[in-house]
Amino acid sequence: MTRKVLVLPGDGIGQEIVAEAVKVLEHLRSRCGLDVAVEHGLIGGAAVDAHGAPLPEETLTRARAADGILLGAVGGPQYDTLDRPLRPERGLLAIRSELELFGNLRPAILYPQLAASSALRPEVVAGLDLMIVRELTGGIYFGEPRGIRTLDNGERQGYNTLVYSESEIERIGRLAFETARKRSGRLCSVDKANVLEVTELWREVMDRLAADYPDVELSHMYVDNAAMQLVRSPKQFDVIVTGNMFGDILSDCAAMLTGSIGMLPSASLDRHGRGMYEPVHGSAPDIAGQDRANPLATILSVAMMLRYSLGEGALADRVERAVGRVLDDGLRTPDIAAEGARTVGTRAMGDAVVQALDD
Ligand code: NAD
Repeated sequence: MTRKVLVLPGDGIGQEIVAEAVKVLEHLRSRCGLDVAVEHGLIGGAAVDAHGAPLPEETLTRARAADGILLGAVGGPQYDTLDRPLRPERGLLAIRSELELFGNLRPAILYPQLAASSALRPEVVAGLDLMIVRELTGGIYFGEPRGIRTLDNGERQGYNTLVYSESEIERIGRLAFETARKRSGRLCSVDKANVLEVTELWREVMDRLAADYPDVELSHMYVDNAAMQLVRSPKQFDVIVTGNMFGDILSDCAAMLTGSIGMLPSASLDRHGRGMYEPVHGSAPDIAGQDRANPLATILSVAMMLRYSLGEGALADRVERAVGRVLDDGLRTPDIAAEGARTVGTRAMGDAVVQALDD
């Protein structure tokens, strides 16, 4: 059966990197038997420009009908002064929550070819391969009430609400235990249970779930310690599960361990395994339109889509091997190049991966 893939390039470098990932998809379709129909849609600032909304109804309808969604990135300085509901980032939060994409898988893998690009010493990071499972549709980014109010004394006060219900914790917990089971069987739950009641409940639910997964070894860590341990000794972790905000911060920190944010893909899954796939980085307005962006995180997001939503594990392996091969061949975009090394542009990197698919 032909599966539907919806492509949402978004803004800034989103357009450029997604174009390279689509080349990979098209190659797999025309040459390797992948049965997919690829459609394009608008989200973020591009959708605001065309339709006056960061997530037009049409995009949402097509997203609901898709088996997999490939997203570039949204946002840009030209949109920062818009009213909050019109900001591109609101479109992203809305599609995640409308499609109930609660489970965000963010692998942080250090390619041996890039060990020198990491901010840490090679012996600390060589062989790093960890997975952060971040809750994506709850917590403080969605909690109500929220806003900025004026107090009786005239002072303004900003407020947000950190809230998690047991069922929300349980569903992300189960996804994390299942993920750990398929890897080394070690799961570290990150919270702030010494200060926040909501994460006291988080810890309690994780402990309860552990009884259903006797083959997984569960540990707990406070988020401040986890941040420190990630840069001190990251290889102690295999799978980390945490809430929306802690996961946002820790996964960017893990990204830098691998050398460049331009290398890291992500998957956001609903409870049926359908999902949206995107690089962890943003729209990088500072390099947009210059053929300098690294398309590999987006291409690796295609590999995750093949594996998690399209049931095409062998093709996913093939894409990941092709990325390894171009790195072996010494191809580097500027973000992953050693000082003074020769670099290639976004398009040349995408073409090289497509070529390596057939090697
Ligand atoms: P960013 O991730 O866009 O950029 C941070 C730095 O990393 C920049 O120097 C950029 O040039 C570099 N970078 C990012 N991706 C790269 C790539 N593929 N290749 C090479 N270098 C790369 O974060 P930012 O600058 O904080 O945000 C810029 C815009 O993106 C903002 O509007 C922000 O709201 C938005 N944003 C969107 C998402 C998303 O769509 N998922 C995520 C984060 C930020």
